[in-house]
Amino acid sequence: MDTEVREKIHLEILKRTGAYHANDHILLPSGQHTSEYIEKTLVTTEPSFTEGLGAVIAKHFAQWPVDVVLSTGPGALILSHCVARAHPSRPIVVYGAKGQAGGKRRVTLPVEYQRLLHQGTKALLVEDLVSSGTTLNLLIDLVEQLGAQVVGVGCLWRRTSVDLNGKPTFSLVSRDFPTYDPEACPLCRKGVPLNEEFVRRRHHRRPSSVQEPKAQ
Ligand SMILES: [Zn+2]
Repeated sequence: MDTEVREKIHLEILKRTGAYHANDHILLPSGQHTSEYIEKTLVTTEPSFTEGLGAVIAKHFAQWPVDVVLSTGPGALILSHCVARAHPSRPIVVYGAKGQAGGKRRVTLPVEYQRLLHQGTKALLVEDLVSSGTTLNLLIDLVEQLGAQVVGVGCLWRRTSVDLNGKPTFSLVSRDFPTYDPEACPLCRKGVPLNEEFVRRRHHRRPSSVQEPKAQ
């Protein structure tokens, strides 16, 4: 199937989950404006869609043996589960943990998973949305430090320009969403009302998601 047609179908699927927004004027958490946006948390809310999209990624990598499907964090775990389930090698599924050390971003593997990646292990990396690629590149380094091999990277969406250390990358949608500084935004100039929904919702969500029962 034509890449462009295939991407349109995948975008349509993401739209039906409510994750993909187009033809809008959206305020991003960074303060920049854009006309298109994917809301990460909604990407995997429809099990049959997630399974279908995971199977497309698995099919792409089906010709290579895979021991482990590894995602950058628990966020992409549902998708990586679906990829692993559909891959003929029947790989196991693990995830890394994102964190900070000395002001630098870093990715680690939970201790329980460390023995599962070693010399010769073939790992397929899975991520939902790849924007800068920083986290994935850290994960690639980590896998290689353990002596394991990165078979490739599969994701739902990535920025066209992103480079993942030259690893074979397959994304269901490759697309750059142009972002603008408010002063230079063509939509502001046209007077299109600004949709602040995604930034507002984040602020609302954060306090409740970090509340944990306190030990008495
Ligand atoms: Zn604007």
